[in-house]
Amino acid sequence: MKKRKTLKSVYSLSDLKSWRDIDPPIRLGVFGDPVEHSLSPQMQNGALEHCKIDMQYARFHILPNGLRKAFDLIRKLEFVGVNLTIPHKIAALELLDATEDNVKRIGASNVIRIENGKLRGFNTDGRGFSRAVREEFSVDLRDLRVMVLGAGGAARAIALQCAKENCERLVIANGTFEKGQQLADSLRNFFEGPKVLGPVPRLQAVPWEERAFQFQIANVDLIVNATPVGLNRGDASPIPSRLLAPHVMVYDTIYSEKRTPLVSAAIEAGARAANGLSMLLHQGALAFEIWFQREAPLEVMRAAIR
Ligand code: NAP
Repeated sequence: MKKRKTLKSVYSLSDLKSWRDIDPPIRLGVFGDPVEHSLSPQMQNGALEHCKIDMQYARFHILPNGLRKAFDLIRKLEFVGVNLTIPHKIAALELLDATEDNVKRIGASNVIRIENGKLRGFNTDGRGFSRAVREEFSVDLRDLRVMVLGAGGAARAIALQCAKENCERLVIANGTFEKGQQLADSLRNFFEGPKVLGPVPRLQAVPWEERAFQFQIANVDLIVNATPVGLNRGDASPIPSRLLAPHVMVYDTIYSEKRTPLVSAAIEAGARAANGLSMLLHQGALAFEIWFQREAPLEVMRAAIR
């Protein structure tokens, strides 16, 4: 196979406006602001090359006010699709031509496929999370009592997935309590079934307070961080080690080479913990399958982000 031309690290809206194809052509990408940190290009380009698909995937730094124009341009340039990351996952919704059902429920889309010039939105974060948990801890969501930290885009996708898979219990802890409560209320109909767990409710929003964490940790199996707390250097763990216990599993959706503060706190407490790299991998593999309607080369993609 011919050698692939090296991509620029980041493309801009101006690049899209005066687009010059390279060989193999760029027909996929990730839109974000910031976007420099994204690992998706190495993962998706590994998959494209392995599957001998003659196209490339690039990073695009797109500001919020440039998203509409960028969508118009990739339609004309016959892109296959794009991933969306911060801050476009929610804002994109009003610019899409069609969305799958769970995008409407979650209120955020991380994958777009372009079909005959129309933009169709998908969300693979929830299913990616579910696969990641199975892989990391050899357990299914349906057998778990889960506490999700956060009520933003990632938390909503994860909470909906837990609900759809009929998890034993779901607790939402969010800084802005009302947002957590709203999320719990939106999932109420999934939790009317017969699973009975004694005195604690199956579905509950709780305040972002130490006392609430302490009580809930005794009544959950899996804690998921779906906030950006831990992303910035100097951030403390969203839950201190002294509140964690060896029986819990901890999944931090933040991914980094080093241990995140929450993962460190969990290990210190004797708990099992994983960071968001596996979720990144599985949401990306699901995106590849949406774009190409074929199985993604998971191990190639895994090796590419390692
Ligand atoms: P988002 O929509 O902006 O939501 C952020 C959430 O975090 C909100 O619920 C917010 O609470 C809460 N929050 C923010 N700062 C906080 C603080 N200092 N203390 C407590 N809570 C705080 O963001 P998102 O798109 O959901 O992303 C959240 C995280 O998920 C990011 O770190 C991202 O890296 C990760 N993620 C990972 C993957 C993966 O594949 N591994 C995929 C998607 C997302 P309020 O409601 O009170 O503001």
